[in-house]
Amino acid sequence: MSSTIAPQDFLEQGVSVSSGADALKIVPHPHPALRRKAKPVTEINAALRRHVSEMFELMYAHEGVGLAATQVARPWRLFVANPTGEADQTDQQQVFINPEIVRQTGSETAEEGCLSLPQLFGDVRRAKQITVEAFDLNGELFTLELDELPARVVLHEFDHLEGVMFPDRMTPAEKTKADPKLADFEHAWRKAQKSGEIPDDRTLLKAFETFKL
Ligand SMILES: [Zn+2]
Repeated sequence: MSSTIAPQDFLEQGVSVSSGADALKIVPHPHPALRRKAKPVTEINAALRRHVSEMFELMYAHEGVGLAATQVARPWRLFVANPTGEADQTDQQQVFINPEIVRQTGSETAEEGCLSLPQLFGDVRRAKQITVEAFDLNGELFTLELDELPARVVLHEFDHLEGVMFPDRMTPAEKTKADPKLADFEHAWRKAQKSGEIPDDRTLLKAFETFKL
């Protein structure tokens, strides 16, 4: 069964997007949450819906086409996507909860980017057509057959739930080109930790692993 989630559905829950200190933020590489395997969602409640709504807002605000929970340091197996990247194209946006890629065929190389690695781009080879199964926010299972960009977005986001980042899948030549930029991200991260601007990895991981709705 196929279904789409319109933003009205979120608004009807009476939720507002928080702007305080507890607001969701996209975490950059090498935040340790980006390397953890996400845990299955066991309950879809108002708090989870509010998080999903915020994830859509963040994705659009950063001109992304997909955002996984691990990218906002939340441990759940879910991601949001809209291959158009347009907030008003609500018929194209979709929440994927506990997704499974049940079929992959073909192969295509195309350039990718990632909201956790701003300004880094590189070619990645992925399946061209996929079938994905997931639950929507109503807890209903749906199946989508996707190809081209929508398939790529889902595969990229699914990787995030497995702790895989897109440079891991770059061709060796592309990876070599990306390495200095990755090192810059890592350097900036360690520097911010040293200055106390952000907590150390152990503290961040503990907060990630023990996060409760
Ligand atoms: Zn990404």
